[in-house]
Amino acid sequence: MIIEKFELTAFQQNTRVVACETTRKAICIDPGTQSDELVNFINSNGLELQAITLTHGHLDHVGGATDLARAFPNAEILLHKDDEDLYYGLPQQPLFMGIPPAQMAALGFDYEDPPQLTRNWEHGEIYEVGNLRFSIRHCPGHTKGHVVLAEETERKVFVGDCLFLGSIGRTDLPGGNYEQLIDSITDNILSLDDDFTVYSGHGPETTVGQERASNPFLTGVYQIGRGKFF
Ligand SMILES: [Zn+2]
Ligand SMILES: [Zn+2]
Repeated sequence: MIIEKFELTAFQQNTRVVACETTRKAICIDPGTQSDELVNFINSNGLELQAITLTHGHLDHVGGATDLARAFPNAEILLHKDDEDLYYGLPQQPLFMGIPPAQMAALGFDYEDPPQLTRNWEHGEIYEVGNLRFSIRHCPGHTKGHVVLAEETERKVFVGDCLFLGSIGRTDLPGGNYEQLIDSITDNILSLDDDFTVYSGHGPETTVGQERASNPFLTGVYQIGRGKFF
């Protein structure tokens, strides 16, 4: 499996190109913004971009879909239906993310309407990219339509903003729900074996085992602070 990371946007989002080494078929998981480097990587490595695969609809994960779709018009675009409002509302997202309108253009957050989605992810579907097989798991909580992509043979899972090294996604934005996020992580990520490498939407990589053992949101340490037992 080829995995190339591009840290994009003011949010330092991890855009990744993931490809099958044998067939050269590739996907781009969460194109954060326009990037010549990203397009050049795909072309210069002889990859065929099959799809723009979106974990969720936040601007730092979908903001580059328009330009990438222009560069690769045959690539399909996939997102869970419960995040369609976020996706098609991209030009309005900077407002509820707290970015002052006067600064949107300077920060690179002035968006046009994004391209039409090809179709929606279905929970439990297997998505093939050459010889790679991703199981698609609906993980609401950070947003309503967040999904993670798990490749069981390669022991890798791409988790977007559900789970980070030592932390979890924020749940205070529209559509967020803390209990739901913990349930999603427990059911769809911690159910994987400890040796799975976890590729997050921000920050460094980790493993399922490390987060199971030491992530304070998952070990119960933070539950006391939240008053769950009172
Ligand atoms: Zn997000
Ligand atoms: Zn993000």
